[in-house]
Amino acid sequence: MNCLALIIHGGAGTIRPEIAGAARAGVERALSTGWAILEAGGPATDACEEAIIQLEEDPVFDAGVGAHLNRDGKAQLDAILMDGRSLQSGAIGAVERIRNPIHLARLVLEKGEHSFLVGAGAEQFAVETGIGLCDPTELITPYEQERWAARAAELTPGGTVGAVALDAAGNLCAGTSTGGTFFKHPGRVGDSPLVGCGCYADNESAAVSCTGHGESIMKIVMAKAAADLVASGQHAQAAADAAVRLLSRRTTGSGGLIVVDRSGRVGASFSTPHMTWAVKTTI
Ligand code: ASP
Repeated sequence: MNCLALIIHGGAGTIRPEIAGAARAGVERALSTGWAILEAGGPATDACEEAIIQLEEDPVFDAGVGAHLNRDGKAQLDAILMDGRSLQSGAIGAVERIRNPIHLARLVLEKGEHSFLVGAGAEQFAVETGIGLCDPTELITPYEQERWAARAAELTPGGTVGAVALDAAGNLCAGTSTGGTFFKHPGRVGDSPLVGCGCYADNESAAVSCTGHGESIMKIVMAKAAADLVASGQHAQAAADAAVRLLSRRTTGSGGLIVVDRSGRVGASFSTPHMTWAVKTTI
């Protein structure tokens, strides 16, 4: 059997000490969920999707339930899943009535006709494919509501989530899901659901999921930059470190990323004060 590898992140930022334990427990639980799928011989796409669904359901993270609210006080969610075998990706942006955006992204990927659906059209696609729309208030936690009312942006309560996996068949997958930045302009979409920026997967190089200041990450197309470094022969850890250095050198933003290559070598790096992440491999 090929090597298996899975890395999960729960976002880069400044994590409030009172939720640090819950964030760690959350990524560990998601790791176990995804790992059980890989160990049973399941595909990397399932492992990433199921791990991320678990994190979207966890109110500690900025994805699904517990997402940061935008300027209008609404949760507007973005997500992407990319299959390293086909290079096909499925992404959704700025949806307000989808409880598990990564699942809808998976359906966009599988249908294959388009790669990125946004807003009302993405929600229409959800209805057409049989996913129920949720009440937007289901996504809003009391903490996020109070923080929005106080416009208190100083500390990041919990982050974007992501997963990268290598399965027994040698296929790579990456996924990212987010509520975006706190108090963002309505309609703002960051790096997370953009191919090559917040997520990338190619069986010939690596699977990568990024987190941090989206407008900065987009400038350097960070996920693809890291995958290209792996393709040029760098170890996944060296590539992750170099991508973070590039972010610091060429932008004023900070962030982090997780990387797994086709041999199961892993890397994680960040320039923010914290990034919650967890890893398991058979190497
Ligand atoms: N990268 C996300 C965005 O800009 C936010 C984050 O990762 O914390 O939407």
